[in-house]
Amino acid sequence: MKKRARRHSTSVLDTSAFRLEDDFYLADFDDSNVAEKPKERPFRPSDPALQDWAQKHRNTFLQALLWHDGRGSEDIKLCTRCNRAGHTARYRCDDCFSQRLLCRECCVEVHGMLPLHIIQQWDPSRGFFSKTSLKSLGLRVQLGHSAANTRCPKPMAAHAQFVVLHDNGVHDVAFDYCGCTGAEPEYLQLLRSRFFPATTQRPQTCATFTCLDRFHIFSLKPKTTAFDFYDSLERLTSGEGAKPLDRYRMLLRMAREWRHLLLLKRGGRFGYKSNEAENAAPGELAILCPACPRPGVNLPADWRTAEPKDHCIYTQFFALDACFQLKRRMVSSEARDPSLGPGFAFMVDAKPYREYLRSATNKQEMSTCSGLKALEQANTKFSKGYAATGVGMVVCARHEFVLPNAVGDLQKGERRVKL
Ligand SMILES: [Zn+2]
Ligand SMILES: [Zn+2]
Ligand SMILES: [Zn+2]
Ligand SMILES: [Zn+2]
Repeated sequence: MKKRARRHSTSVLDTSAFRLEDDFYLADFDDSNVAEKPKERPFRPSDPALQDWAQKHRNTFLQALLWHDGRGSEDIKLCTRCNRAGHTARYRCDDCFSQRLLCRECCVEVHGMLPLHIIQQWDPSRGFFSKTSLKSLGLRVQLGHSAANTRCPKPMAAHAQFVVLHDNGVHDVAFDYCGCTGAEPEYLQLLRSRFFPATTQRPQTCATFTCLDRFHIFSLKPKTTAFDFYDSLERLTSGEGAKPLDRYRMLLRMAREWRHLLLLKRGGRFGYKSNEAENAAPGELAILCPACPRPGVNLPADWRTAEPKDHCIYTQFFALDACFQLKRRMVSSEARDPSLGPGFAFMVDAKPYREYLRSATNKQEMSTCSGLKALEQANTKFSKGYAATGVGMVVCARHEFVLPNAVGDLQKGERRVKL
C-alpha cells in the first residue's frame, strides 16, 4: 500500500523542476558539495502532493471557495425546492449536504428536525450572504412529541431567550414544550430530545449531548480548557466578535454534571433506586486495571499453590509518587462547593482525609540528600494561598492504572505519617 502511494505521487509530479541547489534556504547548503554532484540529479520534495497542488490546482481551489461565497448561478431566481411564484431563492444551509437556494418556507420546513443548522441569507442590495437563525425565520421546535414527530395541541412556549450550546456554535432556538395532560416536566422533555438543561426550573440554557461529549474529549485529549472551548463556540457563532448571550458558567455546571453522570452510568449506578447515586461505596466507580492479577477475575483457581518461580506472575506491583507542580489555589472550599462524588473513584473522600491529616503529627520531612531539591522546594516554596500543594498517588507499577481511592492532595509538601 505504501509502495503504491509513493509510485503514484512521483508519477503525477514533474520532479525535474526541482534541484537541490535551488533550495538556497537549506542551512547546511554547501556550494562545493553541489559542484561535485551531477546537475541533473532530481530533487524529491518532502510532500509531492502538496507541490503538485501548488503548481496545478491552487487557483482552481481558490475559485471554488469564492464560488461558495456567491449564489452559484445567476439563473436561480425562484426557490429550487417549490419553484413557486413569489418564493425567491434566498436562504442556504451551511450544514446540509445540498447547497440549494430555498425560500423561507422551504428552509424552515426542511429543518424541522435539524434546528441547529447554520443558515445563510442572501442580501440582494449588497450582494452577499450573512448569517441568520432558523428562529428568526419562524422555526419552532416541538418537544415532548419528538418520537411521533407531531405538533402538540397545547404547546407551551419556552423562555423567549432560550440558548442552545452545540458543537457548531451558540444558537437561539424557539422551543415549545408539550402541555398535554400528564406531560413530563420541562427539563425532562429537553433531556428526552438530547438537550441537557442547565437548570431544572424554567430552563433558559441547554447544551446538546454532542456538545458535552465534544468538550469532554477535548478537555482530555488536547487539554482544551472550558474557557477556550466556550470562546471557540462564540467565534463559530460570530467571527466578527459579536458576543451571543453569555452562558459560560452554565457550560461549567453542565459539563461537571455530565462527567459525573457518565461516571455513575459506567459504574452501574443507574438511579432506579432512591439515593443510588449518592450511596456509591468508596472507590466503587474507579476503573480497575484489567491486566493486574485479581482472584476470581483473571487468575486460575490454583494460583495460591503455584510454584515459587511463578509467584511473580501473581504478584501486584505498586508505585507511589507525588507531583509538587499540580497545585490548586484556595479559591473555594469543600463546604461551599462540595464534591459530587466524594471518594467514589480515584480521589480519597476529602472529609475523613482532612480529619486524619489534622490528627497526624505536623512533622516536616527533612531531606538528607543534598541533590534532592524536589523535596526541599516542596517543603519551603509557594505553599501560601494554596488549598493543595501537590498530589500524591499510588498506581500499579506495570500498567500505570491509578488504584481506587489512591489519590490524595498534599498540604505543605510531602509528609510521612505512621498509621
Ligand atoms: Zn420553496
Ligand atoms: Zn441544513
Ligand atoms: Zn402535547
Ligand atoms: Zn496493572
